[in-house]
Amino acid sequence: MHKIEMKTPLVEIDGDEMTHVLWVLIKEKLLQPFIDLKTEYYDLSIINRDACNDSVTKDAANAILKYGVGVKCATITGTEKRKKEYNLKNIFPSPNGTIRSILDGTVFRKPIILDCIRPTISTWKKPIVIARHAYGDVYKNAEMDIPEAGLVELVYTKKDGSEKRITVADMKKPGIVQGIHNLDNSIESFARSCFRYALEEKLPLWFAAKDTISQIYDTRFRNIFNAIYEKEYKTKFEDCGIEYYYTLIDDAVARLVKCEGGFLWACKNYDGDVLSDLIASASGSLAMMTSVLVSPNGAFEYEAAHGTVQQHYYRHLKGEKTSTNPVALIFAWTGALIKRAEIDGARQLSAFARKLENATINTIESGKMTADLAGISSVKNAEVLNSAEFIDAIAQSILN
Ligand code: NAP
Ligand code: MG
Repeated sequence: MHKIEMKTPLVEIDGDEMTHVLWVLIKEKLLQPFIDLKTEYYDLSIINRDACNDSVTKDAANAILKYGVGVKCATITGTEKRKKEYNLKNIFPSPNGTIRSILDGTVFRKPIILDCIRPTISTWKKPIVIARHAYGDVYKNAEMDIPEAGLVELVYTKKDGSEKRITVADMKKPGIVQGIHNLDNSIESFARSCFRYALEEKLPLWFAAKDTISQIYDTRFRNIFNAIYEKEYKTKFEDCGIEYYYTLIDDAVARLVKCEGGFLWACKNYDGDVLSDLIASASGSLAMMTSVLVSPNGAFEYEAAHGTVQQHYYRHLKGEKTSTNPVALIFAWTGALIKRAEIDGARQLSAFARKLENATINTIESGKMTADLAGISSVKNAEVLNSAEFIDAIAQSILN
């Protein structure tokens, strides 16, 4: 069979556990038979990251900046427990955190919606896309254990040596303290990515924070969004018939469960972490949530929103054929291939990627699916397949 050529390689970032097992199957059964797949490969398995002192993570992020498009498997974030489990020398920061701080930019998370899977929230008719700021706040914090009573201060030392200091707390008892920061230019590029994405997808944009309580920190976010909107996007939004809407985060959450969906929600880093799992789970399954990191330099990294599906992996190691859902990983590949094709003007490649997406959806709607979907789909007599059988069924559907 004639295979589709690729002009520029995709940056391929392999990972850990069950998602790595699926990664290999997806390439072997759904991509390599149809595409002359060109990738520049980076092994971000926890064992390899440990062996090279995490240099591979930075190399992978720089490769995405160089080529423009990458696709990433889920990776284990190091913890004490994982250090013992994998016999590691070190605990390195979360690979996604490292990649995000090199690419900067914004993570957009969008659920894959199917007719046969209704959201838990009955009013939702259209997908809700979450835009998560990818820099700073609690993900770049400085924390300290306060073992006994004492004064905790925040000190800013200017280049000229002058100081500004305020009291965080005059602590009478042991406790904890944390300092977080963000940068105006990162918030500005976050805001611009959101306005741009909203226009491209014709989606109204919500932004929510807690500026009534956080009167300097969250107010800065609100003001930056507002200034950029007024100056650069207001007319474009009005022409497009969409609106930009700011509200308090608690109000936004209350509206969320009563709305129709069909909007982009810009979230600060931590809010985006929490809310994207909520939206994923309420839209159907965590395994149906796609994620793309859009950097202001025009680089894109596609991945599934879920983790390495650790518990399924332990069952896989015992020889069980697990029914782990590969859909978000497949859509990470198709998203990356479509973007690569768009940049390279490769029409056959994007046509194939869309065919693979349709084949995946058609397979589920025909009643063949993994266990997580069978539990929530409206298809009568759904046939629960294990991961390998499900991927084979998709491959068959591409050929039909
Ligand atoms: P997880 O891998 O997302 O899995 C949590 C649970 O969600 C699973 O136990 C499973 O539920 C369900 N699930 C997630 N993806 C699924 C899929 N594709 N098919 C079927 N069910 C799926 O999160 P975790 O267990 O908290 O984290 C595991 C590891 O992943 C951790 O080491 C963490 O550091 C890492 N992680 C990586 C990323 C990333 O690289 N982007 C993101 C998050 C977490 P049931 O067990 O009920 O079936
Ligand atoms: Mg999360």
